[in-house]
Amino acid sequence: MAASLQRLTSVGRYFLQRHLVKTRYFNGLPVGPRRLLATPAPHQVTLNVPETNVTTLENGLRVASEDSGLTTCTVGLWIDAGSRYENERNNGTAHFLEHMAFKGTRKRSQLDLELEIENMGAHLNAYTSREQTVYYAKAFSKDLPRAVEVLADIIQNSTLGEAEIERERGVILREMQEVETNLQEVVFDHLHATAYQSTALGRTILGPTENIKTINRGDLVEYITTHYKGPRIVLAAAGGVCHQELISLARFHFGKLPSRDQGEVPAPPPCHFTGSEVRSCLCFFGVFCYIFEILMLCSQNNCKSTQRADD
Ligand SMILES: [Zn+2]
Repeated sequence: MAASLQRLTSVGRYFLQRHLVKTRYFNGLPVGPRRLLATPAPHQVTLNVPETNVTTLENGLRVASEDSGLTTCTVGLWIDAGSRYENERNNGTAHFLEHMAFKGTRKRSQLDLELEIENMGAHLNAYTSREQTVYYAKAFSKDLPRAVEVLADIIQNSTLGEAEIERERGVILREMQEVETNLQEVVFDHLHATAYQSTALGRTILGPTENIKTINRGDLVEYITTHYKGPRIVLAAAGGVCHQELISLARFHFGKLPSRDQGEVPAPPPCHFTGSEVRSCLCFFGVFCYIFEILMLCSQNNCKSTQRADD
């Protein structure tokens, strides 16, 4: 597994993911190849979809699987720890943490990790959305135990080395520049900022530049200890997956994660929909401006003609 390929894929997935407040786009996609066929009858869908098994472990971590008997599988950790769980000061930490996941653990260096995944013929990736941070692997079904062990290692034993943090800080700042040149990205960030004003959902996933420049190891460790708890995590797998085996692996690798009783699991902060509107236009001053309808910073009459031109 080439690190560059991995990061490129991660960024691509991130671009799609961050468009949605909830990750419905990906979570809602049919998983099995049969379900990708166009509009099957309801009874066909029911027949073709493997049963979903869900088990909750003692510490609150949920294990979910669909066994289709394939020779490959996808297994991942879906953690309720996206940017909506951040505050103004630590906004960007969840995404920063996701970047650090592949930079080495107490057991594996970054190179060891990359070689191990590559030699398995597997694929390891991650993304951060407003709602969740997700780490997942695609592998041969026979390698499911190793894939789960690697996932457990990267979220529980990451070294979070100072040198790697500094390197990733530069990577994220460059990623931010890339995002800012993508008008579609900018529009969706403005959409959230306007629809959920003064709430966590209104903030960006990457966080402001000043946060990216100042997030430190302590912030990352605090985010893990606060949010990476059993009730916040789903270990989900599909493909050639035995549910009982997945439960055993989950107990072995994630059984020590804190449960609800061991410290408070913070509830997501309330994010009310403010329902206002932002439009971009070229006003008669000849500069790019925004009309905040609620705040009425710019008269709509002044911008009327150029709004139509924009359309
Ligand atoms: Zn990123």
